[in-house]
Amino acid sequence: MQVDEDPSWQDPIIDYLVNGNLPTDKSEARKVQQKAARYYMHGNKLIRRSYSGPHLTCIKYPQTLEVLCKIHDGECGNHSGGRSLAQKALNIGYFWPTMRHDSTEYVKKCDRCQRYKPIPNLPAEVYHPQNSPWPFMQWVIDLVGPLLPALAKKDMMIVATDYFTKWIEAEALSSTKEADVERFIWRNIICRIGCPQSLVTDNGLQFIGKHITAFFAKYKIKQHLSTPRYPQGNGQAEASNRVILDCLKKRLEGAEGKWVDELPGVLWAYRTTKRRSTGETPFSLAYGTEAIIPPHITVPSISLEVGSVDQNSEQMKLNLDLLEGEREKSIVRVASYQQQLKSYYDKRAKVRQFQPGDLVLRKAFITAPRQGSKKMNPHWEGPYVVSRSGGRGSYTLDTVEGKEIPRQWNAYHLRKYYP
Ligand SMILES: [Zn+2]
Repeated sequence: MQVDEDPSWQDPIIDYLVNGNLPTDKSEARKVQQKAARYYMHGNKLIRRSYSGPHLTCIKYPQTLEVLCKIHDGECGNHSGGRSLAQKALNIGYFWPTMRHDSTEYVKKCDRCQRYKPIPNLPAEVYHPQNSPWPFMQWVIDLVGPLLPALAKKDMMIVATDYFTKWIEAEALSSTKEADVERFIWRNIICRIGCPQSLVTDNGLQFIGKHITAFFAKYKIKQHLSTPRYPQGNGQAEASNRVILDCLKKRLEGAEGKWVDELPGVLWAYRTTKRRSTGETPFSLAYGTEAIIPPHITVPSISLEVGSVDQNSEQMKLNLDLLEGEREKSIVRVASYQQQLKSYYDKRAKVRQFQPGDLVLRKAFITAPRQGSKKMNPHWEGPYVVSRSGGRGSYTLDTVEGKEIPRQWNAYHLRKYYP
């Protein structure tokens, strides 16, 4: 019998089983003899006796690739991981020596698997806490999106978070020019809560242009630029954005276009939920009392039934007096929380670095579902090309066609793409 023309892993075994030929090298020869004990020929096919289950048909490249493709992304494929892919190939009765390795590599390069890969919890940088000594003195402002366009084509969200109370303000935007940012700061921060001492933003054009800089100067607002190196300088923004987006996603379930309508409810829920870092709700740190949220009204709580208007206003005044003490306590709590957080982060930080020219996927926010598919939206979008490093874990990206994507992106938002 003829041994196949293309050399493959099967050749020495078949040559031995069929023709009795062994390699001239003694130790090689022993190896082949030992291995061959597990195989037999069936017609012109090499079969391997398996430890459990059916005997396995031995295959080689490119059939191996065909099998992997059928199992992984075929009609019944479910894009499961490398280990289970190899297991399935075994179960259907195929064998080749590198099947586990090949399966892992195959999954690594699968486009869909890369896009749906869960967003990592591991930080991409060490943690640098940023503190504000008092409520509403320092805010971080960030843009999120593009999201699925809602009414009036609003597909961006601007989010401001106060470092101290974790109070958030957010609004849907249809454009993100300097004037839009200015209007948001004016309406949602200055007119509502007062002039902040400083703002932290990334170096997006809408935050560093001539007009907005003049606006900051007019109100004596100091601006701190933090290249988007999450989760450190901008960790606060990143944290609030994630909470808002997660809440939005959960509430919407397939009706993402309505996110603008859901936003106020999500903000309210955020403000009246205890934050782990402060141990208080943003509402109580801002107003010195807990907000009355709808469930309290349907089933009146003691505090509502007993309190007369007079008593209540007495209580409110007392609360305001006590507020300062509560805030002081909160400062201490924040400091110790951040200490814990820092040691926790730094132990786990897995610094990701990219080189110019690297292909990457970018973390997706709320994106349009694929046509005709009711499945979950991908977690990652792209691929994009890293054009240069902005230092400290931030990168500028180009599209594959070479068009620059405005803004810098942090390593935390990126993962390597295998074409
Ligand atoms: Zn896949």
